[in-house]
Amino acid sequence: MKLRDYQLQAVATAIGHFKQSNQSAVMVLPTGAGKSLVLAELARVAKGRVLILTHVKELVAQNAEKVGLLSQPGSIFAAGLNQKDSRAKTVIASVQSAARNLSQFEQAFSLLIIDECHRVSLNADSQYQLLFSQLRRQNSELKILGLTATPYRLGTGWIYQSHYHGRVGNTENASFERCIFELPLRPLINKGYLAKPILLDGLAAQYDFSALQPLSSMDYSEQEIESVLGKMGRATKLIAGQLVQLAASKQGVIVFAATVRHANEVLNLLLQHGQSAALLIATTPEKERDQLIAAFKAKQLKFLVNVAVLTTGFDAPHVDLIAILRPTASVSLFQQMVGRGLRSAPDKSQCLIIDYAANGYDLFYPEVGSPRPNSKSVPVQVPCPECGFANIFWGLTDNDGDIIEHYGRRCQGLLAPETNTAATQCSYRFRARICPDCGGENDIAARVCHACQSQLIDPDKRLKEVLSKQHHHLFRCQQMQLIDHNGDLKVHYQDSDGNPFYRYFKMQTAPQRRALYALFIKPHSRAPGFAQKKYQTASELVADQHKFRMPQLILLKKQPKGWQHLDSFFDYSGRYQNSETYSGSFSD
Ligand SMILES: [Zn+2]
Ligand SMILES: [Zn+2]
Repeated sequence: MKLRDYQLQAVATAIGHFKQSNQSAVMVLPTGAGKSLVLAELARVAKGRVLILTHVKELVAQNAEKVGLLSQPGSIFAAGLNQKDSRAKTVIASVQSAARNLSQFEQAFSLLIIDECHRVSLNADSQYQLLFSQLRRQNSELKILGLTATPYRLGTGWIYQSHYHGRVGNTENASFERCIFELPLRPLINKGYLAKPILLDGLAAQYDFSALQPLSSMDYSEQEIESVLGKMGRATKLIAGQLVQLAASKQGVIVFAATVRHANEVLNLLLQHGQSAALLIATTPEKERDQLIAAFKAKQLKFLVNVAVLTTGFDAPHVDLIAILRPTASVSLFQQMVGRGLRSAPDKSQCLIIDYAANGYDLFYPEVGSPRPNSKSVPVQVPCPECGFANIFWGLTDNDGDIIEHYGRRCQGLLAPETNTAATQCSYRFRARICPDCGGENDIAARVCHACQSQLIDPDKRLKEVLSKQHHHLFRCQQMQLIDHNGDLKVHYQDSDGNPFYRYFKMQTAPQRRALYALFIKPHSRAPGFAQKKYQTASELVADQHKFRMPQLILLKKQPKGWQHLDSFFDYSGRYQNSETYSGSFSD
């Protein structure tokens, strides 16, 4: 058994890291890159005892097999495989079984490897954390290495604090300290190690889930998905028909359905077309599930329809058509679904991917690590004007791919990233909340100023105070237009009732233009951080209208001569968003 060059490189990187550091580490290897060989080789060369953890019995079996290929067979500790042995130098365990039998893990391990490590949560009561505490009690120098193809969690983002490319990951909720190795997908495909994903154009029908809003820490709600599907009666029929046609020249098809009801509907349509198809859902009895998977791998079944079952730990290399009929807010989940089709196999060089739910994630693009703010967002590259780091943020592009807007807040660059010690994050902020006491820049959601520790006023609290006084009005902005007003810039805001509010900026002198920059251009910029044109005339600004965003709310005060602008609120998500919370009278 010979390891591929990148597998050897991954092994060498891990050894190099742990020789000089006890920081917990993550290595990112795409599905199908042969993670189990990498961990088996690490287990072989490790001096002390090694524990390999994963969450499904299929992966326990797969990892144990690879360990046995490279060295002495390890012992298996997994109830699902009817084995509970933890005596060998290398132990391959399911996290559930191990966490339920902590007393059998009282010998010291030197290396803990976690497969599919994006599942590790920081929750102290989780099975992973229970095991970690137990293992650390036996060996405080325990080395922890996680392997995954998808290093982020929906809701919390990156699973590591920093990346060896000199980038900050997640400084608050990361389960691991450092990402030490990441292998992109494209070279593996180019070298023929993985099948090439081909995204199908010309869909017979497509679901429109664009109105769905992801729940804060979870994916979309099943109820809302059902209500969208309910309005698209014919789409499922058309999709099933197209799948049957396309599958004629294919070896194996996996269909990811959105809900159990939806999956049954798809299954019945396939059966009506005379296809061999079966359904796998979370409640399918284990024995039946094993039989169905065996039949599918033996190509006795052509279609396997499932609801969130076949995303990890399932390996059928012959699969050459992946049909995604479910929406997901999780890039990880999308990549895991596609990953089921990328393993190489005889008579297969590519895999057809059909995204009937218009999820639209790019398989090759670097990840953003935070939830996608809306379905039109794509990852965009935004260089930091201070340190030059190439940030990847969610944003919007025009038809030419030029960046119209981005949602980045702080530069993710690490200063002095070459050191293994905690490097500092670049302090440049693309969008900031200015502290009224010291002028320091803070995250737009910060409550305490990081520079002077003073309490930042909660915008809602301030609005409540101000609006209870007379002569104040909260203007709910719906539209904004820039106008050349005899050489001055006139900004025309319009509220939901059609009322206008105007601001005027003079541009004749340099101090006037500086004020314009501070009061209008900077806060209204849709893509902060990019060099701004040195605007000299109002007509230049009018021509660049599309580069500016409007505030959601504008706080106004009545003066003898009209309404005075007090404050504009961008990136606001408080209780004054809806007109039910506050509606005051306003007249120009
Ligand atoms: Zn920077
Ligand atoms: Zn301050």
